Parts: sequence; structure tokens; C-alpha cells
Amino acid sequence: MKRNALAPDELVAAVLVVPPAGPQQFCKIGTRNAMVIAVAAFGLALHPDRRAVGTGIGSAAPTPRRAGAAADFLAGELDAGGLWESRAALPEGLAREFGHRVRDAAAPIDDVRGSAAYRLHSLSVMARRAVTWAWDDYRRAA
Ligand SMILES: Cc1cc2nc3c(=O)[nH]c(=O)nc-3n(C[C@H](O)[C@H](O)[C@H](O)COP(=O)(O)OP(=O)(O)OC[C@H]3O[C@@H](n4cnc5c(N)ncnc54)[C@H](O)[C@@H]3O)c2cc1C
Repeated sequence: MKRNALAPDELVAAVLVVPPAGPQQFCKIGTRNAMVIAVAAFGLALHPDRRAVGTGIGSAAPTPRRAGAAADFLAGELDAGGLWESRAALPEGLAREFGHRVRDAAAPIDDVRGSAAYRLHSLSVMARRAVTWAWDDYRRAA
């Protein structure tokens, strides 16, 4: 928390980002709909080229973290159901279960910005919505 792993003789010279092959969504809870520090945040990337899912949780653990098990679960279910190819509607239960698994990857505390309980609940909602929106984007791009 509030530290990084940069050594005194190191310099970050570049950050290379691979252009996305699929849709991405970002959700943030703040106390107003404007420039404001996050109470909790969630980012999602769909990678249809390699049938993978990327996730990022903000403000709900000492550092940003991935919800790796939730991402693997979602990618596996999309694969097993043939959804990457068919682009059929995302089952409501799948989006909900993904949200629960993202929530389970977080480790928040109560602080001045929000309670741990609120952060956990909001993460499950944000993750469910993010995957629903991203999947709709994926279907529209067909
Ligand atoms: C004034 C301000 C305005 C901003 N406005 C915007 C905006 O409009 N839009 C936008 O996208 N971004 C905005 N940002 C940036 C955004 O809020 C941050 O990028 C984001 O909060 C970073 O998330 P993080 O998880 O890296 O760190 P943080 O959000 O700082 O999260 C760290 C978390 O660690 C928790 N913690 C501390 N110790 C422990 C422990 N021992 N165990 C578990 N958890 C612990 C804290 O409770 C905290 O929630 C703003 C930032 C600031 C300061």
C-alpha cells in the first residue's frame, strides 16, 4: 500500500499495451459522478482471439489485483457453451456467478471511503454489469 517495487537505480522507460482484440468495460463507484477517488472499481477485458478474460479490481485490497479464478471460470464457461462462436446471449446466471467470484477475489477493509461490506457488494454488481455490457459489445461487433 502506497509503495512500489521500483529500485533506486531503475526507471520506467515505457509501458507497452497490446491493442485490444475484444471489448473492455470499466466501472467505478465514487461519491459523485465526476472527478472523485474510487470507493471501488472494476475493469474487464474480453480476449476472443485467445478465448481469455482479463480482470482488474481497484480499491478493494491493499494493491490492485486480478480476479484470476473468476476470469478462468468465465472463459471456461464461454468456451464450454460455444458462446465465443455463437455470440448467443449471456446467461443471466453466468453473469451473476462471475460477479460473486470477482467479489470473492477482493480483500477490502473499512476506511473513510467505504466499508468492506459495501465494497464487496458493489464489486459483485459491477462485475455482473461489466460482463453483461462487454458481452453485448462483443455480440454487436459480429
Ligand atoms: C482526488 C482523486 C480523484 C480521482 N478521480 C478519479 C476519477 O474521476 N476517475 C478515475 O477513474 N480515477 C480517479 N482517481 C484515481 C482512482 O481513484 C485510483 O486510480 C484508484 O483508486 C486506484 O486504485 P488502487 O486499488 O490502486 O488504490 P486505492 O484506491 O488507494 O486502494 C487501496 C485500498 O487499500 C485498502 N487497504 C489499505 N490497507 C489495507 C489492508 N491492510 N488490507 C486490505 N486493504 C487495505 C484501502 O482501504 C484502499 O481501499 C482519483 C484519485 C484521486 C486521489
